[in-house]
Amino acid sequence: MGSDNEFNGFQTRSVHAGARPDANTGSRAQPIHQTTSYVFESPDSAAAYFNLQEYGNTYSRIMNPTVGALEERIANLEGAVGGVAFASGLAAQSAALFTLLQPGDHIVASRSLYGGSVTQLKHLMRKLSVDLDFVEATELDQWKGAIKENTKLFFGETIGNPSGVILDIEAISKIAKENEVPLMVDNTFATPYLCRPMEWGADIVVHSVTKFLGGHGTSIGGIVLESGEFDWSNGRFPIVAEPSPAYHDLEFHETFGTFGYLMKLRAETLRDLGACMSPFNAFLIGLGVETLPLRMQQHIDNASTVAEFLNASDRVEKVHYVDYSTPAQRDLADKYLKGSGGAVFCFDLAGGRNEGVKFIENLQLFSHLANVGDAKSLVIHPASTTHRQLSDSELFDAGIGPGTIRLSIGIEDSEDLISDLKNSLDKLN
Ligand SMILES: *Cc1c(COP(=O)(O)O)cnc(C)c1O
Repeated sequence: MGSDNEFNGFQTRSVHAGARPDANTGSRAQPIHQTTSYVFESPDSAAAYFNLQEYGNTYSRIMNPTVGALEERIANLEGAVGGVAFASGLAAQSAALFTLLQPGDHIVASRSLYGGSVTQLKHLMRKLSVDLDFVEATELDQWKGAIKENTKLFFGETIGNPSGVILDIEAISKIAKENEVPLMVDNTFATPYLCRPMEWGADIVVHSVTKFLGGHGTSIGGIVLESGEFDWSNGRFPIVAEPSPAYHDLEFHETFGTFGYLMKLRAETLRDLGACMSPFNAFLIGLGVETLPLRMQQHIDNASTVAEFLNASDRVEKVHYVDYSTPAQRDLADKYLKGSGGAVFCFDLAGGRNEGVKFIENLQLFSHLANVGDAKSLVIHPASTTHRQLSDSELFDAGIGPGTIRLSIGIEDSEDLISDLKNSLDKLN
């Protein structure tokens, strides 16, 4: 945004942060810099860029102006010092982990995580000799009790996918700080419209921008953001603070201060893993962010209306939405999420697995697919798709019943959404 801080509303920043009229052409919309590389002004400036003595474009695997505009916009909305975008949410998470962990380190993570994140932690991280303990997101004693000498990260989701469990970010960050451990929060389901985890003490925030931030189901992408407040020189993170042999002995923390972690994330991890975001995806996602506040409000209003309808239906055994959850969870929703539980939730059909399949077949407006956070309403029946290899007892352990349906509520008219759900429920006999 301009040089001043006078225009600070969230909607204004969603539209303007990171965007300036193009210096050469005056183009008001964000230009798509579809280029691999950039002509250096001189051999000296080329050397300065590669030495990280000056900040400038070299090669689009590491930075690109269109991707940079998106990074600045989302960092602004989250209250971060900066961000680095990646090819997907899981690429962003891998890079965030790679940058601060070493073999022999230990992670404490919430049990209520996206399935792909569980796999990433359990298998990829263990393959790299990083140890792991899962804890109940809501049990503060478990977070405290799981800490070991070598614990280097706390990780949880603001709103768990798909459980809907809300994280007590402030309380967990307090435990993390007492133990000099950074807290990383996946804020995909809340978005900075509902919650800005850094305001409650989170050190790193990650997103799958594939979901609500992009908002239209067009592009896969991810981002890592940092508060700039964690002390990486506390003696427990030599990988960030000490001279890096992977970058001619640069000391990232000492050289770049609050930007040390992010510089290492970009100049080393993104360089080496190579999972960069394409400029075209950054353009589409940035366009999506312009309407984030308008869409999110409609998403959550619709979600609460639809949850209320389902909760009143005889065909529905239970609705896993915050409005029908425990008083403790409703208090957390009030504190962190404007009273909302987001726009993705599950409900259980009384009739089990066969009814689940039939229910989905009969829907017309809801699309049956494996994504969430689209402007269009989406539905999936985990027991017959993503979790179909599991027995009923294994499903139970994963918190999924044979008749569990996951909805991602879009921005259509809620009357139409309810009418589609009602038609399909009425056809179950
Ligand atoms: C989808 C999702 C991810 C993974 O993101 P991709 O962009 O699909 O790689 C991570 N966390 C949450 C909460 C998600 O919903």
